[in-house]
Amino acid sequence: MPIRDHTLHYGSGVWEGIRAYPTANGMAIFRLDEHVARLLYSAEAFGMKISQTTAEIKAAILRTVALNTEANPEQGVYIRPIFYYGENMSLPPGDTEIHFAVTTFPFNYLSAGKPTSLGISSIRRPDPRTTVVGAKIGGFYANAILASNGAKSRGFDEALMLDVKGRVAEGPGANIFLVRNGRISTPQAGHILLGITRASIIEIANLELNKPVRERRLRSGKFRRANEVFLTGTAAEVKAVGSIDGKVIGNGEIGETTQQLREIYLDIVHGRGDYCRGAKLYREWLTPVPQAA
Ligand code: PMP
Repeated sequence: MPIRDHTLHYGSGVWEGIRAYPTANGMAIFRLDEHVARLLYSAEAFGMKISQTTAEIKAAILRTVALNTEANPEQGVYIRPIFYYGENMSLPPGDTEIHFAVTTFPFNYLSAGKPTSLGISSIRRPDPRTTVVGAKIGGFYANAILASNGAKSRGFDEALMLDVKGRVAEGPGANIFLVRNGRISTPQAGHILLGITRASIIEIANLELNKPVRERRLRSGKFRRANEVFLTGTAAEVKAVGSIDGKVIGNGEIGETTQQLREIYLDIVHGRGDYCRGAKLYREWLTPVPQAA
């Protein structure tokens, strides 16, 4: 990337994090349509004029995954499509050239075995009046990095971020849920990125566990007193939280509901399992990756 590229200086790119998983019928991308729709939404919200169509973006992603996984079809990959500006040092990018790239790599975020320790960050999630919180714009992640670095320097695995009113928002790159007395809750829309995994877990909890998820305003005490807490995200998938600011959640191990949701989620993304109620929906969530020619 040339040193005077606009996005390098101002974080003025939009991107997505997507995953492809091996299934019995080859590789498949989880919720590709929703990710591409959010990528285009982020670009529009940022005033970035994209010339590629949805079909062209999807084709580029599918082709990149096909080319990069043919050597190792057993392994899933994380996929990063990004639109970024070329050379221009003025703040408004104007009609600066827009580049499009797709890269794939193996990515594990947070341990699958050991529940995550979260530390509440003093860095707050941006207020919706200060920015477009629902868009994935590169520069926003400076805020997430500050929170994450702070938590790690205090010995925690990851940060838990509050909104400007002091309510729990999300992790730097994952949404958060709690389970208390068998009922599942998650912070409502407003200060959070509306994760595609979050939406999937809400549907799965409803269809498979008969547990409607309540979207509410939640203070950190509710999380600290919960029986179970877990994080969701494309990178995180479904990961148990073992403690918040040192307060152990439940018995510190992965809880029953978290375990169930995690297993069902991993079944669905791998095209496995026999889930009557959601079977048709879950099939629609997977886009097969055609073999590279
Ligand atoms: N919140 C933030 C701030 C994120 O960066 C992500 C990752 N994209 C998420 C939540 C989870 O979103 P998704 O489930 O769509 O990956």
